[in-house]
Amino acid sequence: MSGLFSAAFLRRIGWDVDVYERSKVELVGRGAGITGHPELFDALEASGAGTKDLGVEVPKRIAIDREGRVTDERPLRQILTSWDRLQRLLRATIDETHYHLGHNFERVDQDERGVRVQFSGGKVEHADILVGGDGIRSSVRAQMAPEVQPVYAGYYIWRGAPNEADLAPETLRTIYPLFTFYLPKRQQVIGYPIAGFNDDLTPGRRRYNFIWYRVADAAQLREMCVDENGVQHEYSVPPPLMRKDLIADMHRDARDILPDTLLDCLMKIGRPFITPIYDFTAPQIVYGRVAMVGDAAANARPHMGFGMAKAGADAQALAEHLDAHDDIDAALKAYNAERQPIGNRIVLHGRKLGTHLGVDLKTDEDRRMHDLLQSDGAMLDWIAVPHFLDAYK
Ligand SMILES: Cc1cc2nc3c(=O)[nH]c(=O)nc-3n(C[C@H](O)[C@H](O)[C@H](O)COP(=O)(O)OP(=O)(O)OC[C@H]3O[C@@H](n4cnc5c(N)ncnc54)[C@H](O)[C@@H]3O)c2cc1C
Repeated sequence: MSGLFSAAFLRRIGWDVDVYERSKVELVGRGAGITGHPELFDALEASGAGTKDLGVEVPKRIAIDREGRVTDERPLRQILTSWDRLQRLLRATIDETHYHLGHNFERVDQDERGVRVQFSGGKVEHADILVGGDGIRSSVRAQMAPEVQPVYAGYYIWRGAPNEADLAPETLRTIYPLFTFYLPKRQQVIGYPIAGFNDDLTPGRRRYNFIWYRVADAAQLREMCVDENGVQHEYSVPPPLMRKDLIADMHRDARDILPDTLLDCLMKIGRPFITPIYDFTAPQIVYGRVAMVGDAAANARPHMGFGMAKAGADAQALAEHLDAHDDIDAALKAYNAERQPIGNRIVLHGRKLGTHLGVDLKTDEDRRMHDLLQSDGAMLDWIAVPHFLDAYK
């Protein structure tokens, strides 16, 4: 997504841009819900992608207890969108001839004139700059700063997106139309409505974004990353290969822990899967003529739901600095000076919110934050709320 944003913004200042994507096929159906932030809407509008039929609007957020009773609530209108919808809007900004599937970045070499980029299979491209928008496990960053490595947060999520049509009437009546939190000790369950297949916003054909945070140490996570065929994966298991015994254990826990409505959502997920939570910051996001954007530059835990907004804002800032400076190197320096500290701040904010789960609390401030977040109301005030960066201005 940060690659598409970068291409859109750079083309608007008159640059020729080509996007190289490792996947051989169009990316669809990846991920699920995305919290809409004002910064994301601004970036979508400014990039030319627009915000048409972005998602489902909720009027408020609620917290519920084990019996499904509302323990606290906040009026907060938010648009919940989806990875698919954003991908489609951004993908449409790029001409087919400049979007290249099946290109795996291998290495970059630089001199004073620019970059020479090599892809698997031997293809080489020359350009003024390389924008590394290749995600948390970025191969571009692995070459430029191999010492920068994502760190496991000590917790992971079970997730999935059941169809609205499959949910029980009680679920649809109570939690479905709202941003819902259920917060048992050292866990978080979060759910909200999102568009259905093919960005369908028609009531009855939408889906529900379900996320359940649970704590697991690195050894437990490693064991969970053994798939149905006994193969050990390094970071996570592709959804179709999730082990059935793990899913059965998770369902058994869920029956003991979750309120009926959230249990209904979980049990209607065809293939629940896990995503371990990692984060990292990097001391710099520009390396000569190589500029990192989005998750490749800095990756926060997903408590603010801000990754897409950051991807858009990184790309926009990069284009603005290149437009404002005659000298490319000076522009990239200015980009680094603006966005590296912001990326840092977002990651640190994510760690603050992550203290709710009580993992690895090191400082007095961690413990204070952890205690504060034990209240449902505080979680409603802090998790995935708009304008959280204003507090740092
Ligand atoms: C559980 C969870 C919940 C989230 N919730 C939200 C939310 O509510 N709101 C929000 O805004 N964000 C959310 N995010 C974050 C969001 O998904 C990311 O911030 C966003 O996808 C960042 O996009 P990106 O383009 O930087 O990286 P990616 O989406 O990872 O894209 C990187 C791309 O680079 C390609 N690539 C990788 N390596 C190579 C290579 N060697 N050569 C060529 N191509 C390559 C990949 O195929 C991929 O297409 C969430 C993340 C998680 C894990």
